[in-house]
Amino acid sequence: MKNPVHQPVDASLVPRFAGHATFMRSPAKASAAGLDVALVGIPWDGGTTNRAGARHGPREVRNQSSLMRRANHQSGIAPFDLVEVADVGDLAVQPIDLLAALAQIEQGISSICLEGALPLSVGGDHLTTLPVLRAIHKARGVPLGLVQFDAHSDTNDRYFGDNLYTHGTPFRRAIEEGVLDPRRIIQIGIRGSVYDVDEHAWAKAQGIRIIYIEEFAERGPDDVVSEVHRLLGDAPAYVTFDIDCIDPSMAPGTGTPEIGGLTTREAQALVRGLRGLNVVGADVVEVSPPFDVGGSTALVGATFLFELLCVMAEARSKTRA
Ligand code: MN
Ligand code: MN
Repeated sequence: MKNPVHQPVDASLVPRFAGHATFMRSPAKASAAGLDVALVGIPWDGGTTNRAGARHGPREVRNQSSLMRRANHQSGIAPFDLVEVADVGDLAVQPIDLLAALAQIEQGISSICLEGALPLSVGGDHLTTLPVLRAIHKARGVPLGLVQFDAHSDTNDRYFGDNLYTHGTPFRRAIEEGVLDPRRIIQIGIRGSVYDVDEHAWAKAQGIRIIYIEEFAERGPDDVVSEVHRLLGDAPAYVTFDIDCIDPSMAPGTGTPEIGGLTTREAQALVRGLRGLNVVGADVVEVSPPFDVGGSTALVGATFLFELLCVMAEARSKTRA
């Protein structure tokens, strides 16, 4: 493979606190043309049912991501040596009309897919993942698998009467639309109080594999990761990382915190274990800077953006080889 032309700013030449903030100090580009992975912000939280603020996520994650360096010491992956990566900016999503916003997000991600790049996005609330999945599904023509890190299943039906679209419903809609294959969905870290003891009955009836936090605590990351690989194989898979999968002591800046969550180290072991999956897109969602403490949650989000980029860059470099 050629040496990628898109390189982050060299911290030995320009200090990390200087310059315009882009994701991981990668070059800012107007489009995804020529890229393998397009880093993109989706600053929209119109699907939030309680504490809003994730619309401010991309800007703060860009800021904290200046702490990311080039290489992953554990996996040995240096994503910028493997593939072309750049920051294509934020999707210009208007904050008022929910359905129009979903259409804008889908169109923005469709453009990235048309240009041949894989989208790696930063939300935004978790409803932003629905139009992203729609766009990738449209581009590939097959139902996608899903690895979801989350405290919540996000497979509820309706909120506040008959509203179908909130950050508590995206994966139910995606299954109904045929965008996701429910038998290749695995949700990890699910916990917290629920509206009803049967809240996850629909999801389980579809075939979704829910790994509650208690099961994870018993089995540990290695065993869970091997189940992920058994379930998803080499079919196209999307990875969605809701920051509230992490315990709120480590990631307080989010709209729907739930105690008893994953540690950052456990989640790193899980995400690193996704190496070898056919990852066709990923996101980090629900970072809410107004609820954050000293940028700590945005730093967690930025670090998982880097971990996801490592997995995606390796997967992409193999399909390109
Ligand atoms: Mn979620
Ligand atoms: Mn959640």
